[in-house]
Amino acid sequence: MAHRTIAALATAPFPSGLAVVRISGPRAKEVLPALFVSKKEPLAFPRELIFGWLKHPLTQERLDQVLAVCMPKPHSFSGEDTIEFQMHGSPTLVEKVLKAIYSTGIEPAEPGEFSRQAFLNGKLDLVQAESVCELASATSENALRIAKENLGGALSSAINEVAEPLRDVLAEIEACLDFPEEGITPQTEQVITAKIKSVQDKIDQLSATFEFGSRVRDGLRVLIAGRPNAGKSSLLNAMLGRARAIVSEISGTTRDFIEEELSVAGYRFVFCDSAGLHKSEDPIEKLGIELAIDKLDWADIVLLVVDASEDSDPWQEALELIRKRARKIWFVVNKIDLNSKAIGILQCDSKICSRNFYISAKSKAGTEELLSSLKNEVQQALPDRAEASVVVSNARHFECLRRAKEALESATQSIISKRPLEISSAEVRISLVALEEIVGKTYTEDILGRIFSKFCIGK
Ligand code: GDP
Repeated sequence: MAHRTIAALATAPFPSGLAVVRISGPRAKEVLPALFVSKKEPLAFPRELIFGWLKHPLTQERLDQVLAVCMPKPHSFSGEDTIEFQMHGSPTLVEKVLKAIYSTGIEPAEPGEFSRQAFLNGKLDLVQAESVCELASATSENALRIAKENLGGALSSAINEVAEPLRDVLAEIEACLDFPEEGITPQTEQVITAKIKSVQDKIDQLSATFEFGSRVRDGLRVLIAGRPNAGKSSLLNAMLGRARAIVSEISGTTRDFIEEELSVAGYRFVFCDSAGLHKSEDPIEKLGIELAIDKLDWADIVLLVVDASEDSDPWQEALELIRKRARKIWFVVNKIDLNSKAIGILQCDSKICSRNFYISAKSKAGTEELLSSLKNEVQQALPDRAEASVVVSNARHFECLRRAKEALESATQSIISKRPLEISSAEVRISLVALEEIVGKTYTEDILGRIFSKFCIGK
């Protein structure tokens, strides 16, 4: 992989006003004269846009009028010599241009390879490289904010602040190892275990932001469940502010799922309207109900919609179907415009449903409060808002933090139970490596492969 010269389309592969094609690597400058004709020589004017023609190096066919820019290393995104062409955004034209570039022996970039070059050249650490990807795919204001802060190095600095005292701990243990006859004094033991404890606390603080971070990144997942005709589709439409799901008096209209995203106050929500929960003999409806039950594992919250106008809406039956697998259930009494007496009377045991709401999907009464409670649900996942600038939203980082903490717990145990110091030293080292893996101070080809293969081509 090292020192390949690669090229790819860096913008989206759709018809558009402009497309940017990027070449990056040691041969970028050398191939430019074969691909580009202009009055001004781009290599002589680095970082300036130069107007000219892109041409095929073998046939000399003029392919497109473009602006070219040369960014000599290390002052480029990838840290390699880079040439970028701003060309017309026709996918067919882009394909022709890329073929022309590849005919010079330059290779097609693999997913995330520009970012990988940037990482290997020390332009970005791993957290920052991953943030580039998250920034591009962020679907809400807050996801964007976290990605931006992590790209700016907020999480990387936090990780380095945790790792640094651990390096001291390691040095202290190893100093004791150098004088085995003296062993570890009770004072040193106390100092070391206290330092480890303080690192563990910091790891805990960072890990505690993950629930919030992943909800911001992936969106809060809300499953709308309930008996047929309770008003599930109407509730979805009311929250979206438009007709998305079919509302009908005929029960069993929603047999599959309808998934829709909504952004509220900068947070992303994914709503899923599911089939009505009841005993059905219709095989297609039965399948829909089974799917709705399977979907419970996906949902952060289930809204159990109940019809206030029905004297005996057998919602208990629906509740029984979901209560074992749902992580959190909110009881949503709908159609209060038809029966306002139900307000505060028709309710679910707070041990089973943590909240009760009274709404009318038709008049939208109460739907704002429901949405605002959903928003609070995301915000409350953040334990200490003062620390909000450093948020862990990536499962890989969270897993590394978990491993780092686990190894420190073992190290403390080993020290307290006076096991050979080599063991605690190895355990502290495991913890340090797990932390270093987050930012990429320690990495293997396999780790890099796994991370960058998730990026798109051109990133
Ligand atoms: P679903 O089967 O649970 O998705 O229920 P729908 O959303 O299709 O609604 C079933 C019926 O109840 C439709 O005729 C809706 O117009 C009606 N409906 C839904 N919500 C309300 C409401 O808040 N008030 C009134 N009066 N009717 C409603």
